[in-house]
Amino acid sequence: MIDINLSTALKSEGETYSYEYSGTPDFGKDIDLNESLKLHADYSADEKRISIKGTIHTVLNVRCDRCLKEMTYDFAGKFDEVFLPEGTQGEDEYTYRSETLCLDKMVYDIIMLGLPHQLLCDEKCKGLCPKCGQDLNITQCECETNDTDETNPFAKLKGLF
Ligand SMILES: [Zn+2]
Ligand SMILES: [Zn+2]
Repeated sequence: MIDINLSTALKSEGETYSYEYSGTPDFGKDIDLNESLKLHADYSADEKRISIKGTIHTVLNVRCDRCLKEMTYDFAGKFDEVFLPEGTQGEDEYTYRSETLCLDKMVYDIIMLGLPHQLLCDEKCKGLCPKCGQDLNITQCECETNDTDETNPFAKLKGLF
């Protein structure tokens, strides 16, 4: 859990405080950390609204979307958010309870939204054969030639003309 104790900030509104975190919070199966997550934040309270901005950095274990090879992805993100006391928020706002600001949900969102739509081990990755599952970066299987020639009835006709 990435938790900030707000007791001091809530008592002295308008003052800016810094927070540093380094650790491996559990984000469930969606996010697999390869090394500890580092977060830096500056925050302040104003009428119980907490404004917080900062940066996160970590390395994630991911898989290539085409060939499924395991690899790492260097992730860096920024944030600039407002947290409201629980029970006073609108639909899409982050909240805190009592005097504890938990950043887990926000960090989860930053990572999920910040990852590229397609993660590739290499832009030229050939991926896996959809028929036999062979990694086409390693060897070319037989499936593709079968597909375009012999199993295609029109390919045979081609020879007649
Ligand atoms: Zn790949
Ligand atoms: Zn194949």
